Amino acid sequence: MANSTNISSSANDTAFFGHPKGLITLFFTEMWERMSYYGMRALLVLYMSGAVTGFNPGLGFSQIDAQAIYGIYVGMVYFMCIPGGWLADNILGYQRAVMIGAVIIALGHFTLALPLTQTFFLGLTLVVLGTGLLKSNISTIVGKLYKDGDPRRTSGYTIFYMSINIGSFLGFLICSYLGEFIGWHWGFGAAGIGMLFGVIQYYYFRGLLGDAGIKPNNMPEKQRQTYIKWSRFTVIVMGIVIAAGLLGFISIDPRIFAEYFLYFLGVVAVFYFAYLLLLAGLTYQEKKNILLLMLLFVAAMFFWSGFDQSGGSLSIFARDYTDLTVFGYPIPVGWLQFANPLFVVIFAPIFAGIWTNLARMNLNPSYPLKFAIGMFFMAISFVIMIAAVELALVSAPVGMQWLIITYLIHTWGELALSPVGLAAFSEYSPKKYQGQMFGLWFLASSLGGVLAGLLGGDALVEGLESMAPVFDSMIQFYLVAGVVLVLFAVVSYYLNRNSSS
Ligand code: GLN
Repeated sequence: MANSTNISSSANDTAFFGHPKGLITLFFTEMWERMSYYGMRALLVLYMSGAVTGFNPGLGFSQIDAQAIYGIYVGMVYFMCIPGGWLADNILGYQRAVMIGAVIIALGHFTLALPLTQTFFLGLTLVVLGTGLLKSNISTIVGKLYKDGDPRRTSGYTIFYMSINIGSFLGFLICSYLGEFIGWHWGFGAAGIGMLFGVIQYYYFRGLLGDAGIKPNNMPEKQRQTYIKWSRFTVIVMGIVIAAGLLGFISIDPRIFAEYFLYFLGVVAVFYFAYLLLLAGLTYQEKKNILLLMLLFVAAMFFWSGFDQSGGSLSIFARDYTDLTVFGYPIPVGWLQFANPLFVVIFAPIFAGIWTNLARMNLNPSYPLKFAIGMFFMAISFVIMIAAVELALVSAPVGMQWLIITYLIHTWGELALSPVGLAAFSEYSPKKYQGQMFGLWFLASSLGGVLAGLLGGDALVEGLESMAPVFDSMIQFYLVAGVVLVLFAVVSYYLNRNSSS
């Protein structure tokens, strides 16, 4: 049952750094899942846009297509969290959804490991479907380890965020090395082995979770049967459409598909919020919370459109215009990306400490203010990238410090926004809809991912020449969004003060 009575761990379960022992299981499952996800993602545009001949042949796609497919992939991965959340809420329960998802992801990576181009899209599709079942539901279970009002929840999410980044660090390290220096499919295979470790670990240690998220929502059996019937039908239709696409019966221009997908996701977001506000039977306070979450949603979408350039246009900038040697030895392109997880692990405790200290002085920034900080950091990071591009136009390759500093600033932004967003969605979501609300949080990542692919394509149309103007317009968006958030925070601060005085 997905409400506050379904809590296995009590406040005196402090087995894991002061947190419930179930967090151990979730920590390592998510670590391996993210290892496989980011490890594979770091290879994706390089593999797709790599030359078809020579050592380690790629697929020879144009940059526009490679970036669009990258965007569609990231967008699909996070979009599928909505049906994944729904299935967990209503039919599977969260624990089972994570188990099934993990197995499907591993199968997806192993499919990508086959040295065939024909199975490439099948592999991507499986990773997408599996991640939809795993990613948001595992985040939901984290919240369910704590009773309502348990102050450890936010720091629980911070620990969980560490696992994400230790995982992505391992992914970049291992998959990029194998994929770029030995062969792409070795890198994909390594991602599969990582996820397999995750499957085994989750299987053996899921008992630590107790009954947190074990059962779906309570509902009359008849209703559940109807849901199951419709889900089966949808899965069959989806299977047919996917099979037709994979077998080449439907031909798709990636760029155009990405554009329509973006509109589609926008419409889904609007309808979803409208439903929650108008038809879901929420109380006045719950509706107010939804409005806040909506604002955070839009900001997060912009944020990820910049952040996800790391696996898109910035990977190409690293490959083509950056000097990738250390003490005379070449390093894989993907290794630059582990600046991000490394900085997360270093700075997450510092950020957590700053928030705690500010809270002690009663100055803890509100959620919108923290998100505004995220936006401003994102804007600054692209100012740095524009300087790097200008320099590269004069004398490429440039030093790798440009990308490292960019990723450092991305990371500061991420820490002000991403774990904070998880905590906000866990705290402010109506209880009955929690699984789906996490799906909604990841819908912002989905929109951001597709936008990232489209913007990345635009940025690379004419190589270096086209980068600065695109980055420049992104900066303007981030600044406007940041200012809107600050205004919102100020207005609601004064409204609250007046209503409480
Ligand atoms: N880096 C975080 C993760 O992998 C957030 C990603 C996102 O929501 N776009 O979970």
